[in-house]
Amino acid sequence: KQVLERVGATIAVVPHFPKDGIMFRDISGLLASPQEREEAFDLLYQAAKDKQIDAVAGMDARGFIFGLAVAERLKKPFIMIRKPSKLPNSIALSYELEYGSNTLEIQKEATQGKNVWIVDDLLATGGTALAACQLVEMAGGKVAGTSFLVELDGLPGRSKLEAKGYSVHTVLN
Ligand code: IMP
Repeated sequence: KQVLERVGATIAVVPHFPKDGIMFRDISGLLASPQEREEAFDLLYQAAKDKQIDAVAGMDARGFIFGLAVAERLKKPFIMIRKPSKLPNSIALSYELEYGSNTLEIQKEATQGKNVWIVDDLLATGGTALAACQLVEMAGGKVAGTSFLVELDGLPGRSKLEAKGYSVHTVLN
């Protein structure tokens, strides 16, 4: 089988999780499959390897898994973008969701002056990724690009990021 097909086959689609009407993509099966997991990490690395990157940032929590794998391959620093009250000496940004709001935090010292490549597992509406980009800039960094293992079609994630000038790289749709 082709690599993309094999990687895609490890990701389960779970209807009505965590809420009615949502088709949740569960990457647990990918993490449980050493060969496909390695292939997924390599595919994400391919998207990053020729870019101008000083550091890789990933979002709490699955962005840590995929982002660290990319940072290791690039041999670059990894920056955590975390949920509130986990990071000392951090700055925060709150953003609106469909229902309610979320907050992400980053350490300014690790980010300032760096070209930062942003990694997460999945791009849906783009709200999380856009907040991560804005947070990197608030901390004095520049966004080198964004990348995701999975992009959900029919949602405005890609266009939301591209409209602000952020490049978007995805492995699976
Ligand atoms: P967005 O902000 O709407 O683009 O949602 C993306 C964020 O929510 C990412 O951090 C994802 O990890 C998470 N997310 C949204 N939908 C799913 C899903 O179907 N499976 C796994 N994670 C999801």
